[in-house]
Parts: sequence; C-alpha cells; structure tokens
Amino acid sequence: MTTIRLKRHKEESLLRFHPWVFSGAIDAILPSPTQAIPPTQATTATWDAGGSPASAPQGAAPTAPVSSPTDPRRISDGSRVQTRTSADGRPTVDRRSTIPSQGPEEGSLVRVVAHDGTVLGVGHWQVGSIAVRILAFRTDTLPDNFWHTRIAEAYHMRERLGLIRPDNDTFRLIHGEGDFLPGLVVDVYADTAVVQAHSVGMHYARHDVAQALCDIVPQVRRVYYKSDDTLPFKAPVTGDKLGYLIGADADNDADCWATENGLLFRIDWLRGQKTGFFIDQRENRALLRRYAEGKDVLNMFCYTGGFSVYALQGGARSVTSVDVSAKAVELVEHNVRRNFGECPRHTAVAADAFDFLNAQMVHDQMVHQYDLIILDPPAFAKHRDAVPNALRGYRRLNAKALECIRPGGILFTFSCSQAVDKEAFRLAVFSAAAQVGRRVRILHQLHQPQDHPINIYHPEGEYLKGLVLYVE
Ligand code: SAH
Repeated sequence: MTTIRLKRHKEESLLRFHPWVFSGAIDAILPSPTQAIPPTQATTATWDAGGSPASAPQGAAPTAPVSSPTDPRRISDGSRVQTRTSADGRPTVDRRSTIPSQGPEEGSLVRVVAHDGTVLGVGHWQVGSIAVRILAFRTDTLPDNFWHTRIAEAYHMRERLGLIRPDNDTFRLIHGEGDFLPGLVVDVYADTAVVQAHSVGMHYARHDVAQALCDIVPQVRRVYYKSDDTLPFKAPVTGDKLGYLIGADADNDADCWATENGLLFRIDWLRGQKTGFFIDQRENRALLRRYAEGKDVLNMFCYTGGFSVYALQGGARSVTSVDVSAKAVELVEHNVRRNFGECPRHTAVAADAFDFLNAQMVHDQMVHQYDLIILDPPAFAKHRDAVPNALRGYRRLNAKALECIRPGGILFTFSCSQAVDKEAFRLAVFSAAAQVGRRVRILHQLHQPQDHPINIYHPEGEYLKGLVLYVE
C-alpha cells in the first residue's frame, strides 16, 4: 500500500477526524511502507525542478515529487489545483498550484502519515484537490470486516433512533462522511438498497458494500448500483456504473412501493432522480402535515409529491403540485391515487416554476393565492463560484412565492445547495420579504434529518436548510 506523507503541521485536521486530505498538504508519496523515510532523514529530502531528488536520504526509496513544474497531471476539469487553508481554517482552492505527479492508481487504498511518521489513517486515493478520503483513522491498515462493521454501525444507529419501523421502511443508511464512509451513499426503500459511489475507491468497493448490506439489513434482498452521474467525470473506472449488484429482478422494478411515516411512495431508482426519492425531507413533510388542514397548498418543485401527499393526509382543502418534469408529475399522481384513491383535491401541473408563479399575476393583480406554499428547488449553486447567482435566484423565487401567499399564510422554503450556508440563505429570503413589503416572521428553522448526520468535524456535510415563515 502506498504511503502518503503530509507536509509539516498538515496533520492537525486529520487528528481531529476531518476525513479529507487536500493535495496541497502532501509532502511525498512513498511507494511502500517499508520504504518510508525516517523523519530525521526525510527532512533533508528536497526536489529539483525536474522532480528528481536533490538529496535523497540514505537508504530511502525514491519518493514522488509533490510539486513538479513538468508534471502534466491535472484534475478532471483540466486545471491545476492545490488547496490552502484560509484564515478561518477552511480549505480554499488555489488553481495555480500543482498536485502530486505520480500518484497511486485512483481508487486504491493508501495510508497517510504525518511528516514525523505518525500514522494518521487509511483511505481512498483520488485525483483532484481532495487527494485522500479517510476511511479509518489512526491505523495503517483497513481493519478486518471493515465494511460489515461500518454498515452495521450505521444500521444500529438508525434502529436506535427509531427510524426503522413497519410504517417507515424508507431511510438513508449511509450518508458519506456523516457515516464515516466518505464517497458512499446508500438509500433503503423497502427491500431494495440503492448505492451511489462518489469516488472511484467506493466504486471498487461496491461488491463488498452490497454483500454487507444484504448480510446486515434484514429487509434488503436486492442492491441496485447507480453511479453513472456521481463518479468523478473523467475517472478511468472499470466495471459497470449502473445495474443490480445483488438480486436482479427486473419484473419487480415497476412496482416498488416504500413506506414513509405510513404513506406509500413508488420509488423508481431506474428512471428517477438521484436514488429515486428525496428522503431528506421526511421530517419537514411531517411538520407540514400539521399545518395543512383546510389550506390551499401549492407544492413547487414537487418531484414525486412527498409534500403533496402529506398535505392531503393533513386535510388540505386543495393541493397543487408543480414540477418541470412530466415524468415526476406522473409519479405524483400515482402516489396520490395509491394513498387516497381518486382525489379531486389534488391537481398536478408540469410547468416551469417561474412561469407558473408569474402566471398567478395578471395585469398586476393576483388571480390566485395560496395559504401554504412549499419551495424546494434543486441546488442553485453546485460550487462556490455560483453562490452569488444562486442567492439572486433564491431571492427572486421567494419574492414571487411571497406574492402568491394570502395574508396569514405560511411559506416552507428550502435550499439544498451545500455551498450556500444558512445565513446567506436567510439573507436571500429576508431580501425577498423586504422586496415585496410583507410582514414576515420565522416559525421554524429546518435542516436535514437524523439519517443524514453531519460529522461534527466535517461541517461541509451540512447542506439542507429551510425556513418556515408566517406571512402577513
Ligand atoms: N420536493 C421534492 C424534491 C424536489 S427536487 C420532494 O420532496 O421529493 C427538485 C425538483 O425540481 C426536481 O423534481 C426537478 O424536476 C424540479 N425542477 C427543476 N427545475 C425546475 C423548474 N425550473 N421549474 C419547476 N421544477 C423544476
């Protein structure tokens, strides 16, 4: 196993269980542990511009240079990157710098040591500004039964939290860094687990993961793998990125119904978005149900209609579900029928959100208003550069929705952009309220649920935020 030695003083975040090693923190790549350079000698090793050792320590194997001007290796978007730590301790990307030149195979296991040789952990090597994602800290090998142990820990945590019940067989079992398995997502729907790899290392571990899922989670009898959209764009992976790993059963695909808080949802992992369903809104939907009685509800960006079904169950007078995807709208109708039969209280519309909201106003007059509106758009900012535009988008969207709310109405508004923090989102909604001149009060501040835990040492895991507003 290759050893990655960090620059001096770059071990602190790993000692605090932050699971990422940034490429800029790497001092040397040592082909094997037996060839690790003793700390006293290592300090004398330097590299010339061509990447060969200017003064290699005696007896040490050649190590790969970390910053070589001749190094052509780049991250997938073609730029050269290195991360530095900014004043507030967060990593920032410096696109002028280089990353290690002769890294191990992407996806292979590497051990990480501090500059003085202290063992920090074992993880997956990847190409890019995040060079290693740590799987196990303070050990230099992956423990026996690693996959079974980690998946069992995640399962028992959810069991203890009361999330796995006959009336709730839908839950996220593995939430990447939040479950100490960086790069892996597993959602469970009734008897099926849907696995997504976000790193090449997790792609190569997929069969171990699938076996552990079947061994540990009693309800799982088949495992579907869906990583065509999530693996690094240019990663040279071998093996299928899509398909059943265990229990292929094409006949049943069309008819998987999963239960969330006693309500039934059809899950289509083959054709649906992400793993097929947005489990992360479960608790927020349950909260909405409490406010729905007698209300005219508008569910914008409804996808498969999670909020709509809860609103109908909560006694809404009418529910209008809107999504730009015709396929999603079809699924909402399916889900409503399955739970309530023919339901004249529900209308589904395939339309762009802004077009729909704009159409509520004709000649400066609102033609229709609602008592309760849900705004749950897709991530407006996928990276930091997109944040200013995203904030303008949130302001515009929320202003439009606020205009469509009757006095005394309620707005559930969300952002799932990881790059937009909750203060920035709140400010965007504040600007929207000020723009339309309504009196607005915050009733709840919402976030992701218990099965999407955030490792306290990895705040980047926090992504879903929401506000419930009382609008006068
Ligand atoms: N609230 C949903 C999840 C929403 S995901 C739930 O609880 O399951 C975001 C949805 O926004 C997707 O279904 C996507 O099709 C839809 N969408 C994306 N752009 C849109 C647009 N411009 N107008 C309307 N819907 C859009």
